[in-house]
Amino acid sequence: MTDTTTMIDITTIGVLGAGQMGGGIAQIAAQAGYDVLLADVDLAHAQAGKARIDKFMSRAVDKGKLSAQDKQAAVDRITCVGSIEDLGPVQFAIEAATENIELKKRLFRSLDRALNKQAILATNTSSISITLLGAETHRPSSVVGMHFMNPVPVMKLVELIRGLPTDDATYEATKALAIRLGKTVITSKDSPGFIVNRILIPLINEACFALQEGLGTAEDIDTGAKLGLNHPMGPLELADLIGLDTCLAIADVLLNELGDTKYRAANVLRMHVAAGWLGRKTGRGFYDYKQR
Ligand code: NAD
Repeated sequence: MTDTTTMIDITTIGVLGAGQMGGGIAQIAAQAGYDVLLADVDLAHAQAGKARIDKFMSRAVDKGKLSAQDKQAAVDRITCVGSIEDLGPVQFAIEAATENIELKKRLFRSLDRALNKQAILATNTSSISITLLGAETHRPSSVVGMHFMNPVPVMKLVELIRGLPTDDATYEATKALAIRLGKTVITSKDSPGFIVNRILIPLINEACFALQEGLGTAEDIDTGAKLGLNHPMGPLELADLIGLDTCLAIADVLLNELGDTKYRAANVLRMHVAAGWLGRKTGRGFYDYKQR
């Protein structure tokens, strides 16, 4: 077996998408000592993402969990760039843009053109086929799923997904990187939603149906899961944390790819997304965060 960790010396990591997940990935990569190039739709979006990382890390400093010096060193290792082409120098790229198949296909074609042909292209997709995204590139054997959990700096798990053509070297290098970032790894087949979202999204969706059918209030449903099932968060508050647009996109992938109507999204979820009530990131989802 070829070992990419010895073939590719990863010093600079590219993160494409500077939202909540991309920001978290950029932060932990910088804290682990990697140089990070952070891109989004344009430079201003990347800079806004870096500002959120700075704010998040400042709170950790205020709580005494991190020294101001370590925080600044990590923030200084993150460089915002204005386009995918600027990610050219990285040896490892992690795509963390919006969960949309056509968008991600386009981004993988661009990453493939922009990056050195030895570079590994990873995606943080929650549900979309790694094989499908790899097929958009000229290096399908170097495309891999690297699914972090939210919030990235806190959650210990990374789910690794091999596409059909993903080679051992790519898989092993990605696993070694995840471990170096302090994570515990599980491996899933390339199947819609992989392991974690195959379990989680039906749970969240069923909670949405319970809300829609008036079984109880959002608080009743979440308290039921927390105190009755020993879940640390209720499914509706977790959906608000993930982002309702992301939950709906994953539910639609499960429905379309697995073809079983049990995965159809509850209308209340679809309507919240249509209204722009996407959860914490917009200040309103199943709960109103502006009132809290
Ligand atoms: P988000 O909405 O917070 O961020 C998405 C980012 O992608 C935004 O900053 C947006 O500007 C950017 N983007 C959109 N189009 C782009 C383009 N053409 N080029 C570059 N950037 C673009 O979403 P998120 O929660 O960070 O999710 C990102 C990815 O991570 C999705 O694939 C999602 O499924 C996955 N994911 C999310 C969670 C979660 O709990 N939210 C957990 C694991 C994985």
